[in-house]
Amino acid sequence: MAAEETKTETAQVKPKEEKQTNCLNCNKPIKKLKRYYRNGKFYCNKKCWRAFVKKQKEEAKQ
Ligand SMILES: [Zn+2]
Repeated sequence: MAAEETKTETAQVKPKEEKQTNCLNCNKPIKKLKRYYRNGKFYCNKKCWRAFVKKQKEEAKQ
């Protein structure tokens, strides 16, 4: 009697990488056409990027 081997395919579950869809500064959703990409992050524009960088610098000082 040959036992039937049932192969259970275990699908590799990859950790879902959350795509950044909101501006790091103002948290507004970023539309594809209107986005500003800096250092691997998205912002809605240069102004938001600058504000965020400034904020981070100030936080680092504390
Ligand atoms: Zn923004």
